[in-house]
Amino acid sequence: MSDSPAARASENQPRKDAGAKIAAWSKFPFLALCWTSLCLVAASEALLLYLVYPRLYELGPAAFYLFLAAAAAFFAILGGGLSLITVTSLTGIDLLYPHGKRSVTVKLLFPIAVWAAKLIRFDRARLMTSFVKVNNSLTIAQAKRIKGNRILVLLPHCLQIDVCNRKITTDISNCMRCGKCPVGEFIATGEKYDLKIEVVNGGTLARKRVAMWKPQGIIAVACERDLTLGIQDVHPVPVYGVLNDRPHGPCVNTCVDMDNVGAAIRFFKKAG
Ligand code: SF4
Repeated sequence: MSDSPAARASENQPRKDAGAKIAAWSKFPFLALCWTSLCLVAASEALLLYLVYPRLYELGPAAFYLFLAAAAAFFAILGGGLSLITVTSLTGIDLLYPHGKRSVTVKLLFPIAVWAAKLIRFDRARLMTSFVKVNNSLTIAQAKRIKGNRILVLLPHCLQIDVCNRKITTDISNCMRCGKCPVGEFIATGEKYDLKIEVVNGGTLARKRVAMWKPQGIIAVACERDLTLGIQDVHPVPVYGVLNDRPHGPCVNTCVDMDNVGAAIRFFKKAG
């Protein structure tokens, strides 16, 4: 890494397992709201069954049992998937193998969890942060599955200081490494650890870069909202999400804790 104090601190710290840094409590909001969502799914199924029961019985017992079996299978798939995600996330034991269907479960339950969070006035940003923590713990648990060393680092455009007019989303080598923002430090880190670094100004460009480089792992720096969407977008590529800091408000002159970036790099370099 570069010689900045933040990078030196990152290098000098003991090579702790990245997983140890993800506190169990930080995963709780996402997991609890997903389990709540699963209960809501079960309740909706029961209500639907109650409402259509007379009609189904008119059609014959076969129609009723077919409906019952479909509802039970749907619940079992979601419940099974969420159980595996919960145990893997909390224990670090990779139980997602061989199906790796976390995306299906999350895609279905996450919107309900967001709705449930709104209902109980739970902060959406905290829910998304919790999702990123759970995702990171699943990525860490699946370390043995990560083959190869092609790691892409995706940075948000807002890391570039607003007074700089270098076109770094087109080509990051346009950065002069003047030290006024963290981009130059990331370029040096990329050279040192053989990482591909890209700066993106949104999900479309991020998807393009992922399609172009076909990485075996991604370190993504962004706000909780962009990370939540991006992680689901690029599934099944393993992503280690690093939340940015926004001392000047959203989307302007943001920064990032290089210790967290260092933990992500060490994880992928050990895993690969
Ligand atoms: S390090 Fe300097 S040249 Fe590079 S993006 Fe930041 S401000 Fe611009």
